[in-house]
Amino acid sequence: MGSGLSSLAALGRGLGTTLSYLFRPRVTVDYPEKERQVPERFRGLHILDRHEDGLEKCVGCELCQAACPAHCITVEAAENPEDAPRSPGERYAWRFEIDLLRCIFCGYCEEACPTGAIQLTPRHDLVGFQRETFLVDKRWLTVPAPEAEAAAGRAGEPGRAAG
Ligand code: SF4
Ligand code: SF4
Repeated sequence: MGSGLSSLAALGRGLGTTLSYLFRPRVTVDYPEKERQVPERFRGLHILDRHEDGLEKCVGCELCQAACPAHCITVEAAENPEDAPRSPGERYAWRFEIDLLRCIFCGYCEEACPTGAIQLTPRHDLVGFQRETFLVDKRWLTVPAPEAEAAAGRAGEPGRAAG
């Protein structure tokens, strides 16, 4: 009888705790319909930025690759074609890949970049069921080109599209 009463008391206490949470403000958000505001200094998914005229800011210097403590950036540079340069420098990155599964989002690549090309954004909405999804290439990373640049064929690189 005694143990029955103590079980009921425990049940009552548990229900009381549950009920008390009904009247508190919610701490969850209805993602993805609503997104939680991330802190100003949040470091999320990367982009490769362009200049206003559409040229790529990345000049293929490989400093971000050297600075990355997780060794997850691969850059291969090539000479800019004289008639249709892709960047303002002598060279551009014809290959640029990041393995996001190894990335620790430290921001060292962004700090090392002399042109402001690689930037970490507040975006964090990347999901996938295969490893390849997280191996992102230049086409995935580079911000879209202005219309005229896209028409001139500077918008993307042949490469692996993120799945
Ligand atoms: S954020 Fe850090 S770990 Fe990720 S690619 Fe940049 S330097 Fe490497
Ligand atoms: S993103 Fe910046 S640091 Fe990395 S290769 Fe391009 S210009 Fe160099």
